[in-house]
Amino acid sequence: MPEPPDARCRRGPKSQELQARRTATVAGGVGSVLPVFTARAGGGIIEDVDGNRLIDFGSGIAVTSVGASAEAVVRRASAQLADFTHTCFMVTPYEGYVEVCEALAELTPGDHAKKSALFNSGAEAVENAVKVARSYTGRQAVVVFDHGYHGRTNLTMALTAKNMPYKHGFGPFAPEVYRVPVAYGYRWPTGAENAGAEASAQAIDMIRKQVGAENVAAIIIEPVLGEGGFIEPAKGFLPAIADFARDNGIVFVADEIQSGFCRTGQWFACEDEGVVPDLITTAKGIAGGLPLAAVTGRAEIMDAVHSGGLGGTYGGNPVACAGALGAIETMKELDLNGRARRIEEVMKGRLATMQEKYPVIGDIRGRGAMVAIELVKDPASKEPNPEAAGALAKACHAEGLLVLTCGTYGNVLRFLPPLVIGEDLLNEGLDILEQAFAGI
Ligand SMILES: *Cc1c(COP(=O)(O)O)cnc(C)c1O
Repeated sequence: MPEPPDARCRRGPKSQELQARRTATVAGGVGSVLPVFTARAGGGIIEDVDGNRLIDFGSGIAVTSVGASAEAVVRRASAQLADFTHTCFMVTPYEGYVEVCEALAELTPGDHAKKSALFNSGAEAVENAVKVARSYTGRQAVVVFDHGYHGRTNLTMALTAKNMPYKHGFGPFAPEVYRVPVAYGYRWPTGAENAGAEASAQAIDMIRKQVGAENVAAIIIEPVLGEGGFIEPAKGFLPAIADFARDNGIVFVADEIQSGFCRTGQWFACEDEGVVPDLITTAKGIAGGLPLAAVTGRAEIMDAVHSGGLGGTYGGNPVACAGALGAIETMKELDLNGRARRIEEVMKGRLATMQEKYPVIGDIRGRGAMVAIELVKDPASKEPNPEAAGALAKACHAEGLLVLTCGTYGNVLRFLPPLVIGEDLLNEGLDILEQAFAGI
């Protein structure tokens, strides 16, 4: 792919012209991190319409893990396009859908019998996981966690923790959703080493007292929380919650939409502590950029729903399924789990050096190629520093590195390079970040 950027990434004349047209016709509620328009992308580089190049530490929000123009994705999706674009799986089925479900059964944790249903977006997958869990248990309540993110539809807004920008002004929200604490080690009052045991005890106590375990259909958690700030629940937390769910007939749902498909150096992040979810939701990295999502789980749970109860016009579109098969082929062939672990090693090493120099870095965390730094005003008080996150992101963008922010307090810089990024380019991106620290 293209060489690393040499020109400063400034908004050129073509992007400016497109931005004016965009402002006139695209709804203002749809934002963009950068006002530069894409011409082509791949291999960790985004080239804009004016020929500027950006190093990509975003992957379209953890989507293009195999790259934005991966050979196998393009080849398989193009071949499928030429054969047929759509029939609707609910009208006349096709093999690609079945092959994706077979791959999901093989790759997701646990060796029990599994079944899947395919959808278009992450939010749709989460909604359907709730439908399945309610149908299977005959219960209504859904338990979610502080800092959790599950989407922008009505039910998934209710499941999402953060008000601005996701929920503000969009209520009323779906009922029977209950939020409990998560083991956020860096900010746990009695220290990270106690967070797993204490937070799980608090969460379980709240469920028992405020909801009643026998009323809970599903507990939904991201094994590494994404939008909430790349929070890895402290050790022991996930297994304790999963055990509680199993003991009380509650469907345990791992939302692996951001953390899944090699992103954390494992096929799925819940494998890290040997947790086997009843249901797992996937999207983002699954299909190399094509819109596809899935709910995969224990056959007896998935099959609790009456025939015709799940589906959608486009769910499991044949071109998206072909893309997914290409993406999975790439992940296996290039050992992208190994690549993700190597990215973690390089990034965390360099970030640790930066932290010694710049105490604004309060915490370095994440796994694989899902790494973040939490920025604070002072390492002792840990007061969130969203201004530093904003200033650093801006400085990186100006120098040709695309980074994203996240976190409940808006003070986290997250790094999600495509797993196929070359090590030189990765280091070049980190050089830009390091220079940005010197400038703020
Ligand atoms: C992005 C995301 C979603 C929502 O996915 P969409 O495709 O945007 O609807 C849900 N859960 C998690 C963990 C996510 O990161």
